[in-house]
Amino acid sequence: MTSAAAPKVVHARAPGKINVFLKVGSLLEDGYHDVATAYQAVSIYEEVRASAADDFSVNFGGSIDTSNLTTDGSNLAIKAATLLARRAGFRQGVHLEIEKHVPIAGGMGGGSADAAATLLACDALWGTDLSREELLDLATQLGSDVPFAFTGGTAIGTGRGDQLSPALAKGQFQWVLAFADFGMSTPTVYRELDLHRDRHSQDIFPAAVQPQVDANVLQALRAGDPQMLAEVLHNDLQAPALHLEPKLAAVIELGEENGALAGLISGSGPTVAFLAADLDGALELQIALSAARLTVVRATGPVHGARIVGD
Ligand code: ATP
Repeated sequence: MTSAAAPKVVHARAPGKINVFLKVGSLLEDGYHDVATAYQAVSIYEEVRASAADDFSVNFGGSIDTSNLTTDGSNLAIKAATLLARRAGFRQGVHLEIEKHVPIAGGMGGGSADAAATLLACDALWGTDLSREELLDLATQLGSDVPFAFTGGTAIGTGRGDQLSPALAKGQFQWVLAFADFGMSTPTVYRELDLHRDRHSQDIFPAAVQPQVDANVLQALRAGDPQMLAEVLHNDLQAPALHLEPKLAAVIELGEENGALAGLISGSGPTVAFLAADLDGALELQIALSAARLTVVRATGPVHGARIVGD
């Protein structure tokens, strides 16, 4: 007797990210800003499992509360799958099971990681066989952070953050991440930055149209030296994020009092990323922050970008 073959499931994984450096350019006429950022992919992953279906659907599970996440065409994973199907002329759909570990609207690019892993999983499931460049082009259409979730490692992002060039990084950095129990809207934080710049136009230098990543950030990454990197961590979105959510300042302070070399808001927040000197420092910090009832996760970086996983 022959049993029916198990339905094919393709499993892909993509990491969350920290912006170890983020400068935001002046407000452009189209309402956007150019940025200059140094991304690092960290060992917190979104797991996407894709199986054949007639239409497009997604279910969420994992360590993150996903009850408020839409599962229709507005979901980034569904957008990624439909974009690829259209590009490849594929006429069926896909069912996606996503195990989420990156906080939603947390400034760590979780939705972007879902989209990058979905592109890879559907490409393998459907046998569309697009080149890496073609998939990266689709990633760019899906959002500024999606190309980096696809490539991973450590990279410099310019333009909207989607023009990537790899950055050399030696060794592994130890991070401790404090997750918030609320999300922050990226457009709201950018708007707050613009308001702040307007209010203080007399006493701060105007932002460059095309900002650049400081050379000492590249040097610290290349040296693999956490002390050096701690001194140059920077995020232009930190002040507006703290203005909108002042309680995050106390989280940064608590981490820095408990051995973090430095703490900074990741992306548009509210996740706070702490850089530790070494693994022991990270473990001690994790214990101290957990004792203060914060939700804390330890991670290392850099890690690889989106990949197919053999189950
Ligand atoms: P970034 O750092 O790239 O600005 P983020 O980490 O702050 O992003 P995400 O979790 O990627 O935020 O999601 C931003 C918004 O996109 C959320 O408010 C959410 O409602 C919506 N969204 C759509 N699809 C997804 C998805 N698959 N996962 C998470 N959020 C999604």
